[in-house]
Amino acid sequence: MPAIIGAPHSVALDITNKCNLRCLHCFNNSGENDVVANELSDNEVLELVDSICQMHPFSFCFCGGETLLRKDLVIESLRRLSASGVKCNLVSNGLLANSNTLHELERAGLNGIQFSLDGLRDSHEHMRGLSGLYDRVLDAIDITLNETSLHLSIAFCPTSFNVDDFKPVCTMLRDKLKSSGRTDRIDLRVQPLMLLGRARRNRTIRPSNNQYRRLVNTINDLRYDPDYRGYFMLEWGDPIDHLVRFPQLQMQFDQVAIHANGDIVASPYIPLIIGNVRKHSLQEYYDAGMATVWDKPVVTALANRMHSIDEMEEISSLIADINMDGDLYIDLIDDDLGDLSVLSQF
Ligand code: SF4
Repeated sequence: MPAIIGAPHSVALDITNKCNLRCLHCFNNSGENDVVANELSDNEVLELVDSICQMHPFSFCFCGGETLLRKDLVIESLRRLSASGVKCNLVSNGLLANSNTLHELERAGLNGIQFSLDGLRDSHEHMRGLSGLYDRVLDAIDITLNETSLHLSIAFCPTSFNVDDFKPVCTMLRDKLKSSGRTDRIDLRVQPLMLLGRARRNRTIRPSNNQYRRLVNTINDLRYDPDYRGYFMLEWGDPIDHLVRFPQLQMQFDQVAIHANGDIVASPYIPLIIGNVRKHSLQEYYDAGMATVWDKPVVTALANRMHSIDEMEEISSLIADINMDGDLYIDLIDDDLGDLSVLSQF
């Protein structure tokens, strides 16, 4: 029996669910969900950050929403986390990532930044609904590569209208990296479109099976192409993978995701909240067995019903319909994650 993990390896916090964009594919419906009206206050976030520092995770990610809408809070949190030796990353749509901000973030202790780039100009701006955004993101990428030491990651979300942009985007990024003279690689992350949040309403943007096949072939070709392979870490993420592996292998829970209202999720893709940092501290949840939450019957049963993105959507819709648009809340400390009767209506 392996030792039980007493603290997370990495923590991802949605520092806000507010957003200055309304992207067609946004899987957490940022800017328009119930969480926006009930976000952790600045003081609550800083208390959470201090408690996380005590747990000494390896890394921390500021997610969202658009993280830079709470820039001052991000900076203060970064100072505390980096002083405790935690590696920090931040996800942004790039709209507010000007030179001053990127330098401020780096000085406060940020290690890496991820921008979204979903194709060339037309595709990116169609997806994200803002003309002029493409140039702003490219500026942010140029500043990151040429003026900072921040590690750069790019997230590309495939849709029916941008799959053929993938290679041209890679070419452009490769050329930017080359001309910057940097020797590190760009992390390039691609995962299938999740039919959750706004993507559920805009489901016609989902790529066809043939388009997915074409994209995966392109990714595989680029991995071995001598003109590209030294410039990227190419990741084709499978969001279903951990739902299959974790319960079967009884893996321990070492990556915590926390929503902007303090809710703790077992996985960003299972509609189940297992606690809230307003009720108990993260350490208390770990002391109560959060590391082994994938062994709990309710978590296992939900994960076992999601073998595909379509099944994931089906279960999430069912739960949202019955739960008035909310996820299931079963608190690891106060409730019983062994009681399967709560799933009888789904
Ligand atoms: S995908 Fe990102 S940038 Fe777009 S609405 Fe959602 S949080 Fe905002």
